[in-house]
Amino acid sequence: MRLRFAPSPTGALHIGGARTALYNWLLARGGGGELLLRIEDTDRERSTPENVEQIFDALRWLGLDWDGDPVFQSRRAPRHAEVLARLLDSGRAYHSNATAQDVRAFKDRHGSDKGFRGEPEPGGAVRLHAGEGEPLRVADVIRGETVFAREHMDDPVIARADGSVLYNFAVAVDDLDAGITHVVRGEDHLSNTPKQLLVFEALGAQAPVYAHLPLLHGPDGKKLSKRHGAASVQELRDAGYLPEAVRNYLALLGWGHGDDTKLSTDELQRLFRLEDVSRNPARFDEQKLRWLNGLYVRELSPRELAARLEEFTGRANLLEAARISQEKIQTLADFWPLSGFLFDGPRDDPQARERVLERNGAHDVLAQAREALAAAEGFDPDAVEAALRAVVEARGVKPKDVFQPVRVAIAGTTVSPGIFESVATLGRAETLRRIDAVLGP
Ligand code: GLU
Repeated sequence: MRLRFAPSPTGALHIGGARTALYNWLLARGGGGELLLRIEDTDRERSTPENVEQIFDALRWLGLDWDGDPVFQSRRAPRHAEVLARLLDSGRAYHSNATAQDVRAFKDRHGSDKGFRGEPEPGGAVRLHAGEGEPLRVADVIRGETVFAREHMDDPVIARADGSVLYNFAVAVDDLDAGITHVVRGEDHLSNTPKQLLVFEALGAQAPVYAHLPLLHGPDGKKLSKRHGAASVQELRDAGYLPEAVRNYLALLGWGHGDDTKLSTDELQRLFRLEDVSRNPARFDEQKLRWLNGLYVRELSPRELAARLEEFTGRANLLEAARISQEKIQTLADFWPLSGFLFDGPRDDPQARERVLERNGAHDVLAQAREALAAAEGFDPDAVEAALRAVVEARGVKPKDVFQPVRVAIAGTTVSPGIFESVATLGRAETLRRIDAVLGP
């Protein structure tokens, strides 16, 4: 199998494009095939170097590699011109000055479903003969066979009057030259396929096998867009998702293996088959991605999680904080709002202070907790727990009547990792200092 991923670098790599890249990669890596990366940068205005870099960057982050150097479509212009000349010489293509108006006039004369046929002229744009007879058949692995009657197809324009070739021509020539055996791409390209097949036919070559992937919808059933949350790979990274979780989740957008949800990349490579891809639109649901990401977060070793968090936040020495946050975060971005108080001081949450610290008796409870923590033997989570539970016992109150004021005193708010772990991680001196700040002189 020789596959390719052929993004147009006109912006960020979106979720749909990332899924296309992933499926191609899984097929290549799972079946001992090869994957080519072709940058379709013929739109010179929108294909900026920054956009190209963004695509490399997104693929690298996703952990998707390719074989050999990337091919830049724009650099293949001489080859496209050569093939175009060959088709003109052989009479498979012809020059034509026909305008859109001429095409309409042709249809008025012959019927609206009749494909346009032009008269060869000395110059002008270049059209390919769509021909007569046997229809074009797209054998699509996912959608089955689609048949296109030639008589309904206009002779497609393959080059402009200035000699520059059109998109569908370039794609077919590039796929042919690269020896691509399987074209796996989004369903939005289905309508391009007959034009590309005509190019293969005109060159006397066999077309690749095609597989058009189903559209992506948001949870509301509408076509996926920014409204539905993170829409590009960069945004997924910034939202704190792990690449392995994103790979897993993207694989499930249009494909599945029974009821399995969590599938490692190894398993995906082993199990993924084009034949099992659904024809129905797939639903991107960020809540499900969050949940799945949480499973991956909990599977990391604390050391590995800390390394990822350090890279994500740009802060150092997060091992202990990572350890005590691991059960409570779903994304890397959840970490700092939960545990940043350990490093940057208590949060400013006046409501929490009012509700918890300005209640009757809270001051006394906190003073007693302070004494217990100051006197505790050792300061690991067990020692902290014993000290605070002794206060609960002595005062005959509910545990949360003691734990919650301590939590708000050290965190400034009511959300934090486990209270004993948080206090222990903060250490005795800092814990007492924060409690004293609340108690006042
Ligand atoms: N360049 C096209 C895109 O980014 C893909 C073309 C293809 O896969 O044939 O959507």
